[in-house]
Amino acid sequence: MKRLYELTVKEALELLESKEITARELVQSCLDRIEEMEPTIHAFLLIIKEEALKAADQIDMKRTKGEPLGKLAGIPYSLKDVYSTKGYTTTAGSKMLEGYIAPYNATVVEKLAKEDAILIGKTNCDPFGFGSSTENSAYGVTRNPLDTDRVPGGSSGGSGAAVAYGGGLFSIGEDTGGSIRCPAAFCGIVGLKPTYGRVSRYGSIAYASSYDTVGPMTKDIYDNALILSVIAGKDTRDATTSAEKVKPYHQALDLSLKGRKVGVVKEYLGDGVDEEVKKAINQAIEVYKSLGCEIVEVSLPYTEYAIAAYYVIGISEASSNLARMDGIRFGHEANVDDWKDKIIKTRGEGFGPEEKRRVMVGTYALSTGYADKYYHKAQQVRAILKDDILKAFKKVDILLTPTMPVLPPKIGENTDDPLKMWLMDAFTVTINPVGVPALALPAGNTKDGLSVGMQLIGPHFKEDTLYNFAYLYEKSIKDTLN
Ligand code: GLN
Repeated sequence: MKRLYELTVKEALELLESKEITARELVQSCLDRIEEMEPTIHAFLLIIKEEALKAADQIDMKRTKGEPLGKLAGIPYSLKDVYSTKGYTTTAGSKMLEGYIAPYNATVVEKLAKEDAILIGKTNCDPFGFGSSTENSAYGVTRNPLDTDRVPGGSSGGSGAAVAYGGGLFSIGEDTGGSIRCPAAFCGIVGLKPTYGRVSRYGSIAYASSYDTVGPMTKDIYDNALILSVIAGKDTRDATTSAEKVKPYHQALDLSLKGRKVGVVKEYLGDGVDEEVKKAINQAIEVYKSLGCEIVEVSLPYTEYAIAAYYVIGISEASSNLARMDGIRFGHEANVDDWKDKIIKTRGEGFGPEEKRRVMVGTYALSTGYADKYYHKAQQVRAILKDDILKAFKKVDILLTPTMPVLPPKIGENTDDPLKMWLMDAFTVTINPVGVPALALPAGNTKDGLSVGMQLIGPHFKEDTLYNFAYLYEKSIKDTLN
C-alpha cells in the first residue's frame, strides 16, 4: 500500500471521491514528508501549513455535505517561487526580491484555486530562472532526491525535487530554455514545456518574455495532461495567450501509434552525449518500433548555433526585464539617499553573480553598435531554427531526443564554469525560440539508480500528440523503472 504522499493525482482523486481518505489526511501526509525531507533536500523556500490544512478541512466539509467541488479538490501542490501569490512571499530565488509580497495572484494560481487544488509551498529556483542546477539560488542549493550529492537540475529544481520525494502531488514550474524539462529529467519525473501562449504568464516574474512558459511537473503522464487541461487557455491579462481550444488532454492517451512517425535527430546523439543517455534513447527507439511506429532519421543542422542564439536573445530580454528591479518598486532597497546611488547600490547588493552576468552581457548585446552583430544576428538564427524544426514536422509526427546530454552533475561540479553549465542546455534551448511544445519524461534508469530523461517535441499546440506518445511509452516501461 502506497503512503498518501506517494500517490499520483489520479489515484488521490479516486480515493478522495470514494471518501477512503480525506483532503486533510492527504495534505498532512505531504507536510509530514516535507518535514522529513527538507533538512536534506531543501526544495522549499516557503511552506504553507495552517492555511493548507484549513483549505483541506473546507473541502472535506463540502464533500461531506455533497456540495460541488473543483476538478482537483483536495490535491496539494507546490509552486515555483517565480509566481505571484497574494499574501505570500515571491522571491524568484533572488535576494533582490527577498520579502516581496505580490498584491495579486498569477493566473495559474487562480485557475488551480478555482479547481480546489491546495497550495502547500513555494519552491526553490535559480534566480529569475537563470540556471540549470538550482545552485545559483540566493537561498542555498537544492539536492536531488535520487542522489543527494547531485543537483536536481534547474532552474525549477525545487519543484522537481518536491514532486520526486512527495512534497505535494504536483508542481508548477517555469521553462524559458529547459527549466521544467531539465529538473524533470534529473529527478525522474514528467515535465511539460507547453506551446508558447498555451498557458497564461500573467503574474509570472519574467525572465525572457518571448520564451517563458508555464507548465506542470508531475509523477506521470496522465497527471501532467490533467493539470495542463486545467491551467491552459486564453487569458485577457496576457495578450500572448492563444484562443486555440483547450483539449481534455488526459482523455485521449491510449490511441494506437501504429504507422506514426518518430523522428530521431542525429545531431542530438553525437559527441558529448553520455553513454547511459544514448543507451536509454536507443531503448526508447526500440519501444516505439514495438508500438508500430516508423523511425525516421531527421537532421537539424543548425542545432550547433542554438545555444548561442538562445542565450543572446534570452539574456537581452532578461536585462530589459530586470531593469524594473531598482529598489523603488520591488523588494530589496539599499539604504542610500541619492536616487541614482540608491539604484546602483540596490542592484549591486540585490543581484547575485549570475544575475549580474546576464544583465551585463544582455545590455551589451542590445547596445548601439553591437545589436546588429549579436541581438539581430541571433534573431536571424532563431528564424532559421524555427524553419528547421517546422520542416521536420512535415516528415514526422514527433521528434525524440534526450532531454539532457548528461546525467545530473555533482553539486559544485560546474559552478566555476558558467559556460559548461550553459552548454548542458543544448537540447532544451532550441525549443523555446521556436515556441513548440516539448515533454520530458523518464526514458529509463542507470545502474546507479539515476534517471535518464527523454524529450518529445511536437508541432505547435500538439500537446495531445505528445501525451499520447509519452503515455504509451510510460505504459511499456513502467515495470522497469524504480
Ligand atoms: N538553463 C537555461 C538558462 O539558464 C534555462 C532556464 C529556464 O528555462 N528558466 O537560461
